[in-house]
Amino acid sequence: MDLSILIVLVFGSCIGSFLNVVIYRLPRKISFIFKRSQCTSCKKNLNILDLVPVLSWILLRGKCRYCSTLISIRYPLIEFITSILFLLCLFSKGWIDDSIPSLFIVISGWILVAYIVSLCFIDYDYMILPNSLTYSGSLVGLFLIFYYEKFISKTNIIFFFDHFCAFVFSLIGFLVFNLLIKIIIRKPGLGDGDAKLFAMGGAWLGLPGLEVTIALSFLISSVFVVFGLIFKRIKRGQYIPFGPFICVSILFVWFFGPTFWFEILGDIFWWKYI
Ligand SMILES: [Zn+2]
Repeated sequence: MDLSILIVLVFGSCIGSFLNVVIYRLPRKISFIFKRSQCTSCKKNLNILDLVPVLSWILLRGKCRYCSTLISIRYPLIEFITSILFLLCLFSKGWIDDSIPSLFIVISGWILVAYIVSLCFIDYDYMILPNSLTYSGSLVGLFLIFYYEKFISKTNIIFFFDHFCAFVFSLIGFLVFNLLIKIIIRKPGLGDGDAKLFAMGGAWLGLPGLEVTIALSFLISSVFVVFGLIFKRIKRGQYIPFGPFICVSILFVWFFGPTFWFEILGDIFWWKYI
């Protein structure tokens, strides 16, 4: 295996290990910087050997070294997923349809992946998308695209303005939409967290990217719900968090670029033909 690929995988799994901490502590409002990691059951501080991503879990056979409580496979899984997504960032389109992304785009992709993985699993666990993540994620995205346009890209394409509009339009648009739904059918439509996550998608992906993200997330979630009902994995009327579908869609757009999806999905974007 190429050494650089191995380094990216190891680096990604270490970030994944940190994201586990964020996912566990952020909704519980525990500081995730100044506190050592503990076993959630016996509260013993974990040492460096217990914290090697993926490998510790395998070597300890999924049990705490001190109290033998089973450790969820979620932890190594999130480390593994993060490392694979970090690797995919080496080949992703990001903001431009280049075949090989620049280092700046790769690193931006890693930052996006870190936000998306945290948001996805926090929403899955708690059905919330913390403002601290969606707002800071939007600001970071807008800053990166601003920096990219000012100092890195040499083309005359206007990036920042497009991304800023996508952020503002989707934030206001979805929040107003939610309010109207609440008034008209007296049930929550999308969550406000979902609106802010779409806005973050707009900040990162711009207007065309946002369009694809919205279409993809509704498409993927409908397929998921239909299959879930057929195979009786979800019940009628069961509440399913929408955030993970938006998260997956944002990454799909980042990895393949909006153009790819416009070509694949084609007719779904009917308003383009009016
Ligand atoms: Zn323990």
